[in-house]
Amino acid sequence: MSTFQELGLNEDLLKGIADLGFETPSEVQEKAIPILLNEETDLVALAQTGTGKTAAFGFPMLQKIDFSSRTTQGLILSPTRELCLQIANEMKAYGKYCKGLNVVAIYGGSSITDQAREVKRGAQIIVATPGRMKDMISRRLVDITKIQYSVLDEADEMLNMGFKEDITDILSGTPDDKNTWLFSATMPREVATIAKKFMNDPKEITVGHKNESTNSVSHEYYLVNARDRYQALKRLADANPDIFSVIFCRTKRDTQKVAEQLIEDGYSAGALHGDLSQNQRDIVMKQFRSRQIQMLVATDVAARGIDVDDITHVINYQLSDEIETYTHRSGRTGRAGKTGVSMVIVSKSEVRRLKSIERIINQKFELKEIPNGMEICEVQLMSLANKIHNTEINHEIDKYLEDINALFEDTSKDELIKKFFSVEFTRFFNYYQKSKNLNVTAGADSGRERPQSSGNAARYFINVGEKDGYDWMKLKDFLKDVLDLGRDDVFKVDVKETFSFFNTEKEHQEKVLAFFTDYKDNGRFVNVEVTEDRGGSRGGGRDRNRSGGGGRRRDGGGDRRRSDKPRGDRRSSRRSDDSSGNRSDRRRSSDSGSDNRSSRSNRDKSEFKTSHSRPTRSRRKD
Ligand code: ADP
Ligand code: MG
Repeated sequence: MSTFQELGLNEDLLKGIADLGFETPSEVQEKAIPILLNEETDLVALAQTGTGKTAAFGFPMLQKIDFSSRTTQGLILSPTRELCLQIANEMKAYGKYCKGLNVVAIYGGSSITDQAREVKRGAQIIVATPGRMKDMISRRLVDITKIQYSVLDEADEMLNMGFKEDITDILSGTPDDKNTWLFSATMPREVATIAKKFMNDPKEITVGHKNESTNSVSHEYYLVNARDRYQALKRLADANPDIFSVIFCRTKRDTQKVAEQLIEDGYSAGALHGDLSQNQRDIVMKQFRSRQIQMLVATDVAARGIDVDDITHVINYQLSDEIETYTHRSGRTGRAGKTGVSMVIVSKSEVRRLKSIERIINQKFELKEIPNGMEICEVQLMSLANKIHNTEINHEIDKYLEDINALFEDTSKDELIKKFFSVEFTRFFNYYQKSKNLNVTAGADSGRERPQSSGNAARYFINVGEKDGYDWMKLKDFLKDVLDLGRDDVFKVDVKETFSFFNTEKEHQEKVLAFFTDYKDNGRFVNVEVTEDRGGSRGGGRDRNRSGGGGRRRDGGGDRRRSDKPRGDRRSSRRSDDSSGNRSDRRRSSDSGSDNRSSRSNRDKSEFKTSHSRPTRSRRKD
């Protein structure tokens, strides 16, 4: 292993590095820095999140750039505003002793004129998101004709986010003889295309297959019914009183919902996703960094590359559609020599996806049980005991000691301790004493979601299908969006060519049918009907039969509306299904004995969270 000095870095940089406390180069740094310092070459570097890529391109760029000139010579493109700011700050820290260095971050959502002014002052290095950069170029607010080094950081993510054209346009305006350094966690075809188009015979380096941090991250999964996801999340948080975590959801909407629910339940949580204003995102990140927020609920894009040390847990509230994303998520924890845990909450239907992830991370998931109520009480109690043990005495209390002592004159030490702890413990105990087991036994139900819901689900026919551009995921997203339902409220989505089926709990049936009485998509009425098929039907066989039925229905005329609707049997089926519609209400609120006991339970819910609660709350809505 070499030192930074041996890699050829100059004194100014070495001083900066020493200040940062970096002792030895990481693998990607060891491989990339000598190449970039000594050769004028293009480079493709593949390395996972957390491997130290910023310094791998940052050090060489800083060493090669002429700070006596005010011309923009280096351009770093990166997918999000947060990353831009992070990279710009890192570059400034690396170049702390580089006299005359001027790094400017350019990103959307902030004043373009302010940014232009900063650039004009003589930025040798610009760190930018592609969208804003292109905007600035077209307004002639930046000059990119003298760029000598361009970096595409998190290239795969930039392409995922649809920045391909912007990147292409930007790079086209830069000199042909510049060097381009592309850094990416994965190498999908699109990245290869960009590399081919803009790079000359690039050198290639790949760092391990593994995240540098993976050895320090353990991977766990928890098997629950999809509808218990949120309760499971709460228990995981309660079982880890000192949790400092990022919780990943699939969509912005779910992210917002989960965060709001957590806040309502008294946790110090915050949401981070693209629908928030820049200002809101900044505030949330600041609160998270300063630990005011213990649970940051985020989308993958918003949290990509964010570098906050000491994250204890990454919780995959939902798995992402792309399994590669998992490594980015889990890479948020287990950094800087610490260990971390990456937890996945899965329903049975998702379990097999873990196998594919295991192949990528080259590590096994361990099946863990969601702790039961008493286990959580115990953890909280011991955590409290430790906290008390470690608490520094506030001597302001001394003057009251006499009175307090008088009050407890006849109380033994044991009794006093018990009373003292009961203050906290009873709240937890009341909340959790009747809580149910959230764990689902593996293998018992042939991998189907919602085994218990068969009696309580309604199955619907809907006259859109693959032809209309839907797959099951898109249809599910569409339904839960228009119906304002949670992700787990729409299930068993089965998309056929021209029509589809899906389930909800019966309690949502009225809402579903009411919504689709006059809903038009592209000028066509979207029709939804309850099918005779029972919601809990398993296996494709019956559904396949239904497809035939559905096809027939679709062709049948005679609807009260003009379009080619199925027969108008919606009303009768709705009525006939209503009778059992309220059973799910009971089930829904049954996570714990106290959950559904209105006022008391609400108090319990907010009070028992003392270990997570902070005075500053961070609820944000658009
Ligand atoms: P990546 O871009 O690959 O995800 P970063 O460049 O953000 O990774 O680095 C991850 C973290 O590791 C940062 O906190 C960074 O300061 C730190 N780091 C980078 N290189 C080193 C090193 N050689 N020694 C110690 N810490 C480092
Ligand atoms: Mg990075």
